[in-house]
Amino acid sequence: MAEGDLVLMGPPGSGKGTQSRRMVDELGFVQLATGDLFRAHLSQGTELGKLAQTYMSKGQYVPDDITVKMVRERLADIPRKTRIAFDGFPRTVAQAQALDRLLKECGRSLAAVLLLDVPRDELLKRLGTRATCSRCQTVYSLAVRPPKVPGVCDHCGGPVSATARSDESPEVVKKRLEVYETETRPVIEYYEKRGVLQRVSGVGTMDEIGARLTMLLDRRKAARAAK
Ligand SMILES: [Zn+2]
Repeated sequence: MAEGDLVLMGPPGSGKGTQSRRMVDELGFVQLATGDLFRAHLSQGTELGKLAQTYMSKGQYVPDDITVKMVRERLADIPRKTRIAFDGFPRTVAQAQALDRLLKECGRSLAAVLLLDVPRDELLKRLGTRATCSRCQTVYSLAVRPPKVPGVCDHCGGPVSATARSDESPEVVKKRLEVYETETRPVIEYYEKRGVLQRVSGVGTMDEIGARLTMLLDRRKAARAAK
């Protein structure tokens, strides 16, 4: 597989979380998810956590410099040979530029940015019928991607039940997708210009999508070796 770290991007409902967990379990990646970083800093009551909290409690985005500081700290703990799958970061062009600098600082490099592509109609269908494993948090879509055995998690055998989230009415779901698109378009363009963006179809079973991602990484490695 190609050397270097990965950024995983994809809209809500694309299965990005599942694929990123798979990279950790099967391919030995370390997942660096900014959502996890925020939670860890908040629960440990760090200075950065307190600072982030002042924005989050007002429903505002945590400013880039705080997020970047958290990522920098976390990066220092990860051995250079361990590959990283970034999830939920970068979210802005400023963060993407900061990531380039950070990786360089630690002698790391970006192998690819993988964008899971899922048609909007399918996303709407998936998001409307979500179900979650209460043990490992794998997300399923009962309409599109149900567990192989009804109610039982493919991943860990835990119980899977419908996610009754009040924030997932069709209007709210549509709005979330719009926000995602507006927010990430500049980041996608940034990586497209740099020639590191790879679009991967996010339609099919988790195994099929996982196989596509692995194949793509192998192809990139071959292309690099031929240079
Ligand atoms: Zn599970």
